[in-house]
Amino acid sequence: MHVTARLLAALEAATEDRFVFDLPGIEERYAALLRELPGVSVRFAIKACPVAEVLSCLARKGSGFDAASPNEVAQAIAAGAPLDRIHYGNTVKSDRNIAEAYRLGVRDFATDSVEDVRAIAAHAPGARVFCRLATDGRGAMWSLSDKFGCSAADVPIVMEAALTAGLSPAGLSLHVGSQQMTAEAWISALAGLADVLAALNRRGIPLTRVNLGGGLPALGYLDHGGGPLNPPLDKMFAVIREGMQRLREISHHALDFVMEPGRHLVADHGALRAHVCRLSTRRRADGERQYWLYLSCGKFNGLYEMDAVQYPMIFPTHPGRDHVQAIVAGPTCDNHDTFNEGRVTVPVPRAVASGDPVWLLSCGAYATSYTTQGFNGFSPLPYVCVDRERDLPPEGEGR
Ligand SMILES: *Cc1c(COP(=O)(O)O)cnc(C)c1O
Repeated sequence: MHVTARLLAALEAATEDRFVFDLPGIEERYAALLRELPGVSVRFAIKACPVAEVLSCLARKGSGFDAASPNEVAQAIAAGAPLDRIHYGNTVKSDRNIAEAYRLGVRDFATDSVEDVRAIAAHAPGARVFCRLATDGRGAMWSLSDKFGCSAADVPIVMEAALTAGLSPAGLSLHVGSQQMTAEAWISALAGLADVLAALNRRGIPLTRVNLGGGLPALGYLDHGGGPLNPPLDKMFAVIREGMQRLREISHHALDFVMEPGRHLVADHGALRAHVCRLSTRRRADGERQYWLYLSCGKFNGLYEMDAVQYPMIFPTHPGRDHVQAIVAGPTCDNHDTFNEGRVTVPVPRAVASGDPVWLLSCGAYATSYTTQGFNGFSPLPYVCVDRERDLPPEGEGR
């Protein structure tokens, strides 16, 4: 399990449903990333966990932010990040979005089209632009390949349009797809960056920054059989280091590297305390008998990704081994509010009763973003953040 004792203690202490975030756990994951990828600076992708305490904890450690809207820019500023560590990483933006971000002080914008470049020039004059190179998204649980990025052939066209429009064509970016499971995707992404960088060098366009995007995995998700997914994280770090070295060798200028991890930093350090609504047995029309575990929280309480992800589930009041295999679903009147669309069953203690606590682990990424505003009357869940103070011995004890 990729969960700290601190997080488990906070789940134990929760008597009502809530999300729990382990701030020191997030800090440790951030520090580990910087150790593994020396020379990379982090721009945390806010959408993965737009929780003020999480953002300010990362900002205190020196993290910047990848913002996707003026409101996210404002959240990053409120967290205490300096403006030169906040960029606008969304290639999709209206004129008004650009003008508002510029007014707030943002000078770095991602782009992937000539139309967007012209809009940036009009509403954020003189800004630095980063052209996003498309990836195929293979190997990722959530590909980001269709909607974002341009082809290698189009990058020079976009960058020359930026120069003509008085912008500074400052760098390249990409995203290998979220929860990328293969090191090969990183190898081909970095090879693609090297080709484009060389092509831009030949045209005399001096790039100074490479943004490797997000996509690094959570470690705690399960596969459909309930086993660990085991993404090859060490191999990924190794190929990223090699790719960075190669980019440095071919670049005509000193390069700085940034990365926009979201999921990797927060997923395993957030968890949900939910409770059992009911364990029911039902017979389908074809006569097959099924167990269904209905939980108090589901897709519309933020577990939107449960159509693909198996979160580890713990029934803390039922440590025994007498289990049934049940389909797990959320509490709403929506058929899709069912884990893995009902294709997967998980072991559930036969004796669970309505009201028993259930802990869902590794659901710290994207859950607060995907929370709906009261679907079927189920309100957004509260959250608590645990900090180091909890580890200190109570007054009068210990040292
Ligand atoms: C969502 C997003 C990220 C974060 O992706 P993860 O897979 O969570 O690391 C980074 N950059 C951009 C531009 C994004 O849209």
